[in-house]
Amino acid sequence: MMFMFKSFLERISKKLHHHTATSQTGFDARTTFGLMVIGSLVLWPFAIYHFVAGNVFMMTIVGGLALLATGNSILILRTEAAPPLLMLISCVLTNTTVLLAAFHLKLDGIFWVYPALVFNYSLVGTRVAIWANITLCSSVLYLAGSWADWPIWPRIAVTMAATGLFSHIFSSNIDRQKQALVTLATIDPLTGVRNRHELQLELMKACSQQTRWGTPVTLLVLDIDFFKNINDTYGHIKGDEMLVEIAGLMSKRLRTTDSLYRYGGDEFLVLAGGTNAEGGRILAEDLRTTIQNSRPCELSGISISLGVAQYAPPESISEWLHRADEALYRAKANGRNRVEFASPGPT
Ligand code: GH3
Ligand code: MG
Repeated sequence: MMFMFKSFLERISKKLHHHTATSQTGFDARTTFGLMVIGSLVLWPFAIYHFVAGNVFMMTIVGGLALLATGNSILILRTEAAPPLLMLISCVLTNTTVLLAAFHLKLDGIFWVYPALVFNYSLVGTRVAIWANITLCSSVLYLAGSWADWPIWPRIAVTMAATGLFSHIFSSNIDRQKQALVTLATIDPLTGVRNRHELQLELMKACSQQTRWGTPVTLLVLDIDFFKNINDTYGHIKGDEMLVEIAGLMSKRLRTTDSLYRYGGDEFLVLAGGTNAEGGRILAEDLRTTIQNSRPCELSGISISLGVAQYAPPESISEWLHRADEALYRAKANGRNRVEFASPGPT
């Protein structure tokens, strides 16, 4: 029994695992799912208790929230994501319900404000959650002003503020760590341009755009000529500076629809969206002359060689990359500091 439960949890965990990056909040879909399940488990007994006690008002609002939490859990499990609009609606409904409870039950209802202050951060993300919490707390304090005596009101205010503040600190921390991880996973630390991991995703997107809508996309593979000599002559630090400067020069020249990636070592890749082979040729020549004329690191005679390949469906990404690579090898073999075109892809 325990084993079945464990493997069920593992299956859920795996299913939701890869949605961390797409979640709107610092929390991933897995965490939101977990909180929704906890919410369901906590709320249903209360809803049933109010039903048995014949308290229609409380049964309706607590039952409604329990239904929402259960519905969200099922939806997140099926779609493997927490849809932002649904999460925003859930946040508004949760806060309204908690406010109604505080109005109706007075001090007994206020206990529900605390979990809501934490829960909001998993629903709508740090920036929206802080406004949701400020609105909730000030409304509750306004309501409490009519019945709470002197020592009670400030206690409610202080404990709510502390809960909101702690939740905010935790959530901001998660946001910062998540952002740092995204940067680490997608950006080349030396040059600051995107890395190979990011390239795979963008290549897939570009291929499907050309296949579906016929939007042309062209790949430029480029490599610094005789870069090893620079390392050997001036040292690795100068070599690193050269890589940074060349990446900067190319980034400046590119349009917003073009993306630059460091493919590895002294090899870079430009993905030029909405560009056919002719556009790719103009861009490649421009990049080549820019590097040649800029004297990076105040050294003359620095040049790059380029291979250009427009995506030709139905070829695979690796076939496309291979054609661009072959063109680059030809540019090297034909004397460097030049642009060569890939052989036509499959028709
Ligand atoms: P070719 O014209 O054929 O490209 O000649 P090359 O000397 O540039 O040869 P190749 O591209 O194979 O050499 C790449 C060199 O880049 C080898 C390696 O020492 C150097 N390299 C790779 N990564 C880095 C890096 O991060 N920093 C520095 N300074 N050098 C690097
Ligand atoms: Mg090289």
